Amino acid sequence: MPDAAPAVRGVYKPRRPQASPLFRLVSDHLHRLQTVYDERFAREYGPWRPVVAQVADKFLACGVLEHGFARMRCDDCAHEYLLAFSCKCRYFCPSCHAKRLAIWTQWLDTTLLAPVPHRQVVLTIPKRLRAYCLYRRRLLGEIARAAVRTVTAAIRTLTGERDLAVGIVACLQTHGSRANWHPHLHLLVTDGGFRPDGTFVSWPVHDTARLTEAFRRAVLRLFVRLALFDEDQAAGMLTWPHSGFHVHTAVWVPEDDRAFATRLARYCARNPIALERLTYDRAAKAVTYRSDKSEGPTAGTETADPLEFLARVLVHIPDQGHVTTRYYGWYANRPRGTRDKAALAAADGPGPPAIAPAPRLAPTEATRRWAALLQQIFEVDPLACPTCHGAMRIVAFITQASVIDQILTHLRTRASREAHAGPRSPPSTRAPASRGTARAPCPSAHAPPVT
Ligand SMILES: [Zn+2]
Ligand SMILES: [Zn+2]
Repeated sequence: MPDAAPAVRGVYKPRRPQASPLFRLVSDHLHRLQTVYDERFAREYGPWRPVVAQVADKFLACGVLEHGFARMRCDDCAHEYLLAFSCKCRYFCPSCHAKRLAIWTQWLDTTLLAPVPHRQVVLTIPKRLRAYCLYRRRLLGEIARAAVRTVTAAIRTLTGERDLAVGIVACLQTHGSRANWHPHLHLLVTDGGFRPDGTFVSWPVHDTARLTEAFRRAVLRLFVRLALFDEDQAAGMLTWPHSGFHVHTAVWVPEDDRAFATRLARYCARNPIALERLTYDRAAKAVTYRSDKSEGPTAGTETADPLEFLARVLVHIPDQGHVTTRYYGWYANRPRGTRDKAALAAADGPGPPAIAPAPRLAPTEATRRWAALLQQIFEVDPLACPTCHGAMRIVAFITQASVIDQILTHLRTRASREAHAGPRSPPSTRAPASRGTARAPCPSAHAPPVT
């Protein structure tokens, strides 16, 4: 055997991402879905998009050693294991989306969010308008801008201060509690605004009825401007007694409760599908999905046809380059950059009044926080040696098909010999599918140890 393989010694314990119900659902039905989509699902879920097949293919390779891995090694005790590559797909792969969320919320906590109270503002649009977002995927972003202008105007008007800068993080969410198509917005808003000198002024009164009405008018005006509605249709919708527009502002976050703020942010940008609420019965050809609501019309568990459910879940994959999290006002990139520069320039004088710049982390402290972060997501620290707790490092990225096969075959043969000698079950022998290109290693929980 060539040099690369025998150097990796040890036990082979596959992570088996193939056991997840979502993996099995996609691998069983993706191909068939593509052939019947136009006829059966295009009407309800919009046209088939090439990005969907790309993401689904990457997901089927995520965490699967046959598609490549990094060799991790501990220099202290020579312990090694293989770390499979991850797909890095957002709003579909539960593992990769969770990793993104954890990194993002840590950045919110340490860098973005100002030390002031925040408020979650959830804005929903009527059913009739939701279908437009299927055919014009960027429409929800345009609705977000209308929502941001409405909320900012409300705060400026109520405080009587026209030049307040309101900080807003807008999360575009397309799914409801049952992974259904339900485009809506979650805004994390400073509960007030900043004067040009940095002083924070609180949002004095909350009136959701008036805010809802303002949002309704802003969205209908947008639909007219985009020629999706004519003036008469918009005027007609303004007369509906139940408008179908809703704005909730009840969730308030105190300035010192960062744990709550980041938990809330995670909820605002959560994955459309949660594995713990999904079951897939291959024999019965049935999917069941439990709502994340315990009461109300969308509560309970639903049984669906696998093809229908897959079409429903795939519709939430964003188009390539579509920005689903946006920053406005005080939190927009440009004012943030200006503030950072001002803070640096005034390093020996007084800093900006209300906002302290994010602390500069020493490399060791940054490493410690990263390790803590990874541990929080995956319950193991992929950078710590499971044997001696020393620091693991990446020895090599293995992406060449022939080398992958040699190493895995070697490890399987060895594991199989050991299985005959002891109680350990034999390793997975699933045939490798097409090779992916080189990707970053997935620091996932069950990386197979190689001792
Ligand atoms: Zn993934
Ligand atoms: Zn070690």
